[in-house]
Amino acid sequence: MILSTHFTLEEFQRSSVAAAHGIDNTIPVQYIPTLQQLCRTILEPLRKFAGQPIIISSGYRSPTLNIKVGGVYASQHTLGEAADIYLPKTEYTSWVDGQRHTDMEIAHHWFTFLKDHTDFDQLILETKNGLDYWIHVSCRKNKKKNRHQVLHLNT
Ligand SMILES: [Zn+2]
Repeated sequence: MILSTHFTLEEFQRSSVAAAHGIDNTIPVQYIPTLQQLCRTILEPLRKFAGQPIIISSGYRSPTLNIKVGGVYASQHTLGEAADIYLPKTEYTSWVDGQRHTDMEIAHHWFTFLKDHTDFDQLILETKNGLDYWIHVSCRKNKKKNRHQVLHLNT
């Protein structure tokens, strides 16, 4: 099922952990409009800015899956309000602005775009060993309640 121009419901539902443990991660119908809003408000603008595919590493999480992956209680992932994303490395991404950049510089480039141009609840840049990164983005069902919180986490 298509949620927006570049995103499908399946991308938000897919989970290797759920598959490995036989956990049902079917997205309840009532969360579909919330996911569509997340796509429209945050993911599509980033997709357009980056000019390349965005990979959703963790989208929706059923309450059981959320416990299994050690997610925080009542995580926004269980409400269809959040996604963890990354942008795959391509030749294009190493040449942003005609200049060569490291993956981490590019991650910051996209993170800054999200911060300045989208209506988010939480925006978290998580980095591991200064090499790997992923971005947690969320948008509340009621956008008026968005806190515009920006966090950097190092693990
Ligand atoms: Zn997350």
